[in-house]
Amino acid sequence: MELDSLYQEVILDHYKKPHHKGVPSGNFQVHHVNPNCGDEITLSLKIKDDTIQDLVWNGVGCSISQASASIMSDLVSGKSVPEAHIALAQFTELMQSKGTIKGDEDVLEDAIALAGVSKFPARVKCALLSWMAFKDAAIQNGARL
Ligand code: ZN
Repeated sequence: MELDSLYQEVILDHYKKPHHKGVPSGNFQVHHVNPNCGDEITLSLKIKDDTIQDLVWNGVGCSISQASASIMSDLVSGKSVPEAHIALAQFTELMQSKGTIKGDEDVLEDAIALAGVSKFPARVKCALLSWMAFKDAAIQNGARL
């Protein structure tokens, strides 16, 4: 898989030093797996004052899945539920675009580095795994996403 080298660096940075990785806790833990690749993620969060708080994840898997979890956690932590919804919707659209759209860096921040993954259908699930786990956890916390 060939990705733009600058983007590759962003992905590797998140893979080597993942953000918000820890021990998920609380009543609303979700566990998602991507059997195609062997990626797994467990994630928990709280929604207080309509804001995403205390997002913690743990997981194993390929560099794309783990970097995407780190990037997603940075992006949505501290955001309002509507802002997180927009980011989630745009990232999902980007991943399903087969490389036809570039994504809005103002909304997606480091997640833009994963744009190239959309050209590789087998890896799209790796990139989306943590985002789907986030969505699931947010819904369990009563958010409308
Ligand atoms: Zn994977």
